[in-house]
Amino acid sequence: MLDITCVDCGRTLIGARQIISMTATPEGLRIAYVCWCGRPGAETTGRRRRGTTGPRITARRPVATAA
Ligand SMILES: [Zn+2]
Repeated sequence: MLDITCVDCGRTLIGARQIISMTATPEGLRIAYVCWCGRPGAETTGRRRRGTTGPRITARRPVATAA
């Protein structure tokens, strides 16, 4: 499983079947993938961390208001 950030879906876990290729770069392992939604993307994992942007949680659940 790999933790990716899809443009459409946000933070998503994908499996090995979604991974297209892995390329070693000086910054780490660059992983090309296709999200569950079909959108391709690439994520670089490894040594370097990109800032400290906390987990972006978007709660899209409609608030059930009692009548
Ligand atoms: Zn997606």
